[in-house]
Amino acid sequence: MSHIQTLGKDAISFIFPRTCASCETEPSLEESVFCFGCSLKVSSTDHFSVADNQLRFRLAGRIPDVQAAALYNFIKGGAVQRAIHQIKYRNRPDIAHDLGKHFGTKLMASDYMVLPDIIIPIPIHQKRRQQRGYNQCEAFATGISKIAGPHVIADCLVKNREIISQTKMNRLDRFDNVKRSFHLLKSERLAGMNVMIVDDVMTTGATLEAAWSRLKDVPEINLQLGIITLADG
Ligand SMILES: [Zn+2]
Repeated sequence: MSHIQTLGKDAISFIFPRTCASCETEPSLEESVFCFGCSLKVSSTDHFSVADNQLRFRLAGRIPDVQAAALYNFIKGGAVQRAIHQIKYRNRPDIAHDLGKHFGTKLMASDYMVLPDIIIPIPIHQKRRQQRGYNQCEAFATGISKIAGPHVIADCLVKNREIISQTKMNRLDRFDNVKRSFHLLKSERLAGMNVMIVDDVMTTGATLEAAWSRLKDVPEINLQLGIITLADG
């Protein structure tokens, strides 16, 4: 996008404030994707200020010694759940991008998280990408990048087959199923780097665990995790 286009877009959003990512009727608050009413139905985490946080605890034993932060806790029927629905099914990558900017601001203010050199979005299958028109995790990643600066590399961790339905699988099978769908391309470019893997929603953690286990063997890589919201899992 050219500077002129970017300026034009910012000017438009200045004149016509954007509508809330959840209710789609009220204008969103400055520096937020939600309106005042919906922002009351949001639960922000303390993950950026507490290193030994609940998310890390939830991943313990599966992803050891990794710094991890999610923006929001799960609230059933809450504003975040509706925003995620817009992002995934209503052609709203801009919401993911804005949430990335929000994440980037919190990341910069965190006194324990390392500012990554590279951000890697969890990939989606090409067929899904064509249907949706974008990878929502990549939109989230570019939002973080815009504020915090690290490059987004979206062609290193790739997904080259659809995941078989996981509903009847146990946790280990589920992990193995996801892991086999992920592959690394030219991973040597990540050697010695601080890398943040980002995902939109974490349910069981199987996806992040599979991505982490693919990336962890890159020489001297330091991995962290960034997530928009936790789900009940
Ligand atoms: Zn609202």
